[in-house]
Order: sequence, then structure tokens, then C-alpha cells
Amino acid sequence: MSLGNGFQRLQASNLPIFRWERGAAVWFYTPGGLAVVPAGMAENFQSQTTGDPRSRQGAAAWLYQRAVQAQRAWSEISARPYAPTCLTLYLHNACNLACTYCYSATQTGPADHLTLATIRDAARIVAENCQRQGLPFTAVFHGGGEPTLYPAEVDAALDLLEGIAADNGLAIFRYIATNGVLRPERAAWLARRFDLIGISCDGPSEIQNQQRLHPQGLDAPQMIEQTANIIHQAGKPLHVRVTLTPASFRRQPEIAAYISEELRPQEIHVEPVYRAGRVKSGDCFTPEQADEFVGAFLEARSIAQYYSIPWLTSGSRPWEVHGPYCQVFRNVLHLIPGSAATACFKTIDAGQADQQHLAIAVSAATRAILSLTRPTFNHCAGPCWRKRRNARPASIDTTASESARIFVRPRARPPRQVFAAGCSAA
Ligand code: SF4
Repeated sequence: MSLGNGFQRLQASNLPIFRWERGAAVWFYTPGGLAVVPAGMAENFQSQTTGDPRSRQGAAAWLYQRAVQAQRAWSEISARPYAPTCLTLYLHNACNLACTYCYSATQTGPADHLTLATIRDAARIVAENCQRQGLPFTAVFHGGGEPTLYPAEVDAALDLLEGIAADNGLAIFRYIATNGVLRPERAAWLARRFDLIGISCDGPSEIQNQQRLHPQGLDAPQMIEQTANIIHQAGKPLHVRVTLTPASFRRQPEIAAYISEELRPQEIHVEPVYRAGRVKSGDCFTPEQADEFVGAFLEARSIAQYYSIPWLTSGSRPWEVHGPYCQVFRNVLHLIPGSAATACFKTIDAGQADQQHLAIAVSAATRAILSLTRPTFNHCAGPCWRKRRNARPASIDTTASESARIFVRPRARPPRQVFAAGCSAA
């Protein structure tokens, strides 16, 4: 098993310790810690880490402890009952754009739409959990597919969810992710019905028109700017999501300036392109691009900060405990076209969920949600890097010996190659 392109898990250990040979040094990584060991001392370091506990000292003992803690934290996360308090709906996979990296693009054409009956079943489960935990009901309308293409479906689903939330005495929070290429009246409707709107925009028109194509050649950037204005006029918060590709990541500062000035969102989230749908592994990032990626990211972050806008990424967080982007571990109940519930955010329809064993607790015959149990990662056949990687909070550690440098800085930027491993395998 490898972690990204470079790290290989140490077979001699049942703990999450990974090794990467990097010229004159060997890197040993476990969630929350990285030790860089001179190549000549690496074998000794490794055998201390994995072998007889009495021989363990200094950095090897420190790394081992980090790995034990990570394993324990992961077991705790895995053992928590699955009690979703957020309902995510992929209503269909139809879209008015044809992005080069679309992860919901299929060979098989339009998918079935989600039915209100399935949404109702799922919403009742979520509402019960919200009530038990004293939380508001969170409803998320998300693509693959552009959810606003069929506003009547969105209205019907929202009315249903609002009714179920009210019946259970719950407040409801409504979020929608859209490509923002909307006519003004539809943008106004969006702003009326949702509490938070996320628009996907990859930057100024040259980048946007290269990556997020409009098949009829409409001026998509101009329409997105108009949508953002309408949302601001309605007083609703706006987030922007930017997908970075190997062709665009060097232009992050320019992208940050454009979005901050023209769209003026409350937050900007940048994500390296996922390997899914139209994106093949050769179209993703490589570890060699990590330095440039991080450099451009930090420069862009300073520009966004000038406008008081956070410039964020979920690309890699080696310092904290978190699950992968598995919806089940995030207590999200995620429905997809074909009326299935899935464990993985990258699943685009019921057929794929069945094929990859990602459907959860759904009757295959009726697509009715029967009951929910938390599946394990073992059910998942997908090549998800993050499912093999868990992190725990790091603390400043002063045990660095002369033979190994240890990098553990809470909320510091991740080591570039660790970041790159995440990018290239996302
Ligand atoms: S807007 Fe989203 S669903 Fe539509 S083509 Fe682009 S990536 Fe795919």
C-alpha cells in the first residue's frame, strides 16, 4: 500500500508508518509527525521503529508513539455510531457546462433523478438524529450535475425538508453548490431559498473558459459575476470554490485577485482537481509540482487576506484528526441519482455505488432506505488515498535528536511532499 506516489507503508509494522526515500535522506511519516533521517541511518531507525521496543529511543520512539496515538484515534473515529445530521442531495447529473475535469460526467448519459420518496425517507432519519443531538437540520444541494437546472425539483425537495424539520421542531440550514451560470431571475430565486450559496469559479475568463466550458459559448464569467451581485444584493453569504489543475495552479495569485475583487465572497476554497470522471491519473498533480503549488498557494492566500477573505484548502491536514472525505465518517447522508445512498462523495449514481460497493443500507430492489449502519473502509473498492490516512493533533515536540529532524508544527503548513501526495492521489 502506498501513500500517494512516494510513501510506502512499512510492512513490518501494523501501525500507519510510511517511508519515502528522498536522495540523501529517508522520510518516515505517521499522521501527526514526520522524521527526516539521513539515508545511512535509515535502516537502523526503521528497525527501531518496528522492532524490539527496548531498542526504541529518541526520534524512533517518538514516531512510534505518534503512530500508536494515530491508530487509537482512528479506531475511536471508526467506532462512533453513524448518525447523520446532514442530508446531501445530488438530484441528477444534468449540467449546462462541460468542464474538462467534471467528475460526474458519465458514459451512460442522463441518470435517473432522485425521488421525493427517497428524500423523505432519508430526511426523517436525519431529523431524528438532529433532534437527539440538539442540532439544526442541514440540507445540502450539490452537484455532480447543476442542481438549479430543475428549480421545481429543488423547490419540491426544499418544501419537503422544511416541513420535516418543522414537524420535528428543528431549524434548517440550506446550502447549495452551483456553477453560477444562471439567468438573473434564477439567481434571485436561489438567493431567496438558500442560506448559503457556493459558486464554482476557476478564475478570470481566460481560465474559466478553458476549464469550465459552456457548450453554447455563453459568457459564463459575466453570468457568474452577475449571480454573485444578486446574491450580495439579497444579503446572502457567498463562498467560491476553485478547482486547480496542473494548467492553472501557478496562476493562483491572479485567481485570488480576480475572485476577491469581482465576486467578493466570504470564503474561497481551492481544491486540486480530483481523479474521477473525465480526469485520468496523468491529468493530476505530481509530487514534483509541490513546491510551486505551495508557493503559489501562499502568495494567493496573502492576496485574499488583503481583502480579508480566507483562502483555504482541504488538500492535506497532517496535523489533525480527521476522516477521509468519506460521507459516512462525516455523518452525512448522501443521496445520489438513482435514489441510492452512498458512502463516497465521488460516487455519481446508483449504478456506480453498486459496482464499487459504496451503496449503504439501501434496498437494491426498491431503493428505499431501510436502516443505516456505519460501513467500514473495507467495503470500499475505490482508490481513495485518504481512506488509508488518518491524522491526529500534533504538539510541539522537543525530542528531536541529532540523527533525525522531526517536523511537528501544529497548524503549520504541511510538508510539501505530503501535500503533493494528497494532491496527486485525490
Ligand atoms: S459544473 Fe460541475 S457538474 Fe457541471 S460540468 Fe462542471 S464539474 Fe460537471
